[in-house]
Amino acid sequence: MKELICITCPKGCHLKVDEETFAVTGNSCPRGAVYGANELRDPVRVVTSTVVVAPVPSAGTNLPRRLPVKTDRPIPKGKMFEVMAEIAKLRVKPPVKVGDILISHVAGTDGNVVATKELTSDK
Ligand code: SF4
Repeated sequence: MKELICITCPKGCHLKVDEETFAVTGNSCPRGAVYGANELRDPVRVVTSTVVVAPVPSAGTNLPRRLPVKTDRPIPKGKMFEVMAEIAKLRVKPPVKVGDILISHVAGTDGNVVATKELTSDK
């Protein structure tokens, strides 16, 4: 029996998951059962991070140094380091809109890295 804390909502139910049947107990709602079973079968996570904003000589001085990004869907937990390595290499320049795809099929997954904040030059 594997013990987990459900991270689907702030309640944080303490789950017990049978490693053979994937039956879940301790969940207060059906989402916990899905989370618990998936966590043993194929754990996934949305990756959030920031990327470097490349210097733009013609832009104003108010350009932030980093832009927040995330994957647009949960990706396999085993791919997280590859995803972070690709994000670390990325440099962005304005203009960027919220939801713009900055890396498609990151690390060979179905997920894309998208901007979660707008980036505009203040010029
Ligand atoms: S089982 Fe349901 S109520 Fe409990 S933490 Fe998970 S999502 Fe929240």
